[in-house]
Amino acid sequence: MSQSVETGLRTKAIHAGEGIDPTTRASAPNLVMSTTFAMAKPGGFSISAFEGDEVPFIYSRWGNPTVRQLEEKLAVLENAEDCIAFASGMAATSGLLLGTLNTGDHLVISDTNYAGTAELVRQMLPRMGINVSPVDTSDIQSVRAAMGDKTRMLWIETPANPILRLSDIAELAETAHEYGASLAVDSTFATPIATRPIELGADYVVHSLTKYIGGHGDALGGAVLGSKRVLDQLRNDALVHQGGVLSPFNAWLISRGAATLPLRMQAHEANAIVLAEFLENHPAVLRVNYPGLASHPQHGLAKRQMANFSGMISFQTDAGPTLASRMTAELDIIHYAVSLGHHRSLICWIATDDVMTSSFQLPERQLEGYRSFAGDGLFRLSVGLEDPEDLCRDLDRVLTG
Ligand SMILES: *Cc1c(COP(=O)(O)O)cnc(C)c1O
Repeated sequence: MSQSVETGLRTKAIHAGEGIDPTTRASAPNLVMSTTFAMAKPGGFSISAFEGDEVPFIYSRWGNPTVRQLEEKLAVLENAEDCIAFASGMAATSGLLLGTLNTGDHLVISDTNYAGTAELVRQMLPRMGINVSPVDTSDIQSVRAAMGDKTRMLWIETPANPILRLSDIAELAETAHEYGASLAVDSTFATPIATRPIELGADYVVHSLTKYIGGHGDALGGAVLGSKRVLDQLRNDALVHQGGVLSPFNAWLISRGAATLPLRMQAHEANAIVLAEFLENHPAVLRVNYPGLASHPQHGLAKRQMANFSGMISFQTDAGPTLASRMTAELDIIHYAVSLGHHRSLICWIATDDVMTSSFQLPERQLEGYRSFAGDGLFRLSVGLEDPEDLCRDLDRVLTG
């Protein structure tokens, strides 16, 4: 599909990156599993021997037609110049961090994010001489206080896992650039249907494709998006040489999922609003975090920054761990399981102490910020695409039982 044609997001999600196969006239995209490609003429072992878009497919760690189709679809959806697909969200995250940061650099990162990201930056980066400052990125003063002349990157996740705290992308992009740093946004919870960080000034967007974009819980994948200028170098440093490439089969499954992303996000949001209101009115529930609720402390920012409030809810009860073990046995429809963004609803319990020991050891004041959303722990509910009344009934039985 020509990217110059102005089309809506639903049309883009279906057609971008794809086209009728010129040889077979197949309407659906082919799955190309080949790891190597017969050369039309003898070539070197380096992509740099080829110029610009003329690079033929040579070897699937360097590039594969099915993976490339997915990259093009995602770039169009995010309104980014280019996209690099990875084997998982963590391969994308580690690829971007290790592919851009050098010894002596300083990283300012949200103190609340996906546990794998927090563990990576706390445990690995300091070993390589990269300094890390975890701060509450919803508070611009804390961010400014942490930035310095060595700061190379500001990393946020919005909404942040699992408390659904938001960070203001446009404001933080401006701040990062003032200090000569780049802004990276893990936008997994938002998806390009809710928020397109590049349009708000971010330099990099990171996705776990395992979640909403794939959407069906059957393929791991990840992506980094940004300008051609920054991604050209990153493709070598973060992908080709670190080697965390996406399998073409997963790319094919994820492309099929991405085609229905706009419709699924509408349905996820509609269901999540029903569930969030149901939980907010439930006597066994102490607090509900959902950006679409008027009670969310950043509901104003959510309305400005998110065209869709997505399908992630977290909530506190006064019997977290007990209730969690009952859920594993007694829920009929919702699966008690990690991960999120699938058509099936998923729920799991996240204890605050576990998050704090496995990720950042935060000073008391920052810990208070986390606890104000999470208390001693919360249930993270990824609202799926089932009938919302069935989901409410499933939860009500366990909550009141
Ligand atoms: C799941 C997730 C990741 C990691 O993705 P994987 O595909 O599991 O490696 C990173 N960030 C966020 C916000 C996630 O939810």
